[in-house]
Amino acid sequence: MNKNLDSTGSSYNAEELQIEKALRPKMLSDFSGQPKIVDNLEVFIGAAKMRGEALDHTLLHGPPGLGKTTLSHIIATEMEAEMKMTSGPVLEKPGDLAGLLTNLKSGDVLFIDEIHRLNNVVEEYLYSAMEDFRIDIMIDSGPNARSIQISLEPFTLIGATTRMGLLTAPMRARFGINCHLDYYDVPTLINIIKRSAHLLQVPITEDGAHEIARRSRGTPRIANALLRRIRDFAQMKGNGTIDNQIAQFGLLALNVDEGGLDEMDNKILSTIIHKFKGGPVGLSTIATAVAEEAGTIEEVHEPFLIMEGYIQRTPRGREVTEKAYRHLGIVPPAQTGKLF
Ligand code: ADP
Repeated sequence: MNKNLDSTGSSYNAEELQIEKALRPKMLSDFSGQPKIVDNLEVFIGAAKMRGEALDHTLLHGPPGLGKTTLSHIIATEMEAEMKMTSGPVLEKPGDLAGLLTNLKSGDVLFIDEIHRLNNVVEEYLYSAMEDFRIDIMIDSGPNARSIQISLEPFTLIGATTRMGLLTAPMRARFGINCHLDYYDVPTLINIIKRSAHLLQVPITEDGAHEIARRSRGTPRIANALLRRIRDFAQMKGNGTIDNQIAQFGLLALNVDEGGLDEMDNKILSTIIHKFKGGPVGLSTIATAVAEEAGTIEEVHEPFLIMEGYIQRTPRGREVTEKAYRHLGIVPPAQTGKLF
């Protein structure tokens, strides 16, 4: 999956990526939320620096837009090291990886996004690089083929994934540091929005920030994206300041509802209710019915809908809850009418 997804699952353009980069916190002290991760990383980074060693390999996992890439940049900066970035699907053969690894200097960071999408051959190749800081490269072919061993500088691999369950056990076991990023609470998102507004030089009131924060699905990337769009409404339809009124107006125009659900979230809920009697129904059936990729539903929409209690996973598929019926203004079927 493309990692630069907005709440509707579509890709960001180059300009938006540029802005996103500008809004990224640069140091751990600027990173809001995820206090446990920040505290632990402070200790691990401090200790590694004191020993003059590379930081242990680090796995960051959680839904898109919660700060995995941002944290990796921060780790490299705090370690005073350089970071090379790549992603699982880009590394097609061991040679692609060898080129990156042999260019790393002592203590540098190699960031592999979507690490669950590495192919088996490349993944196994990575094992010895991670464990012993060496790789075996095959040179020549046919009868002259032989493998030579190349030593690598000690480096830190940072793997990011939205799908922890798809990572193989041997891969998971090779990470010394394992961090799960959670959705952000509203007060933290308010801080992030106010910081971004300051960087974008757009005035925002406390209740304006609150309105955007509570409808950002717990995700900083969505909070920043909504902030940028609502800035446009403030400019064109208001007096330039984002207050509660203009935030509400903009969010309505952007089809973000009171609970922060976007069009696709609502489509998923109403499809399960209207086409599948509230479920249980399989993920791929839902995906076909709403014309969206199953992976996007599973990574982007479902975790939020589950966290907020709109749907639940059962062994037989996804089921909506009473909250989903109420959210869509539909009377839930009488519980007694159910078979179990
Ligand atoms: P991921 O890699 O998990 O998909 P990113 O690291 O790309 O997410 O974060 C998306 C955007 O959200 C970044 O541009 C950054 O500005 C913002 N962001 C993420 N986490 C935080 C945070 N804790 N504090 C401030 N901004 C954040």
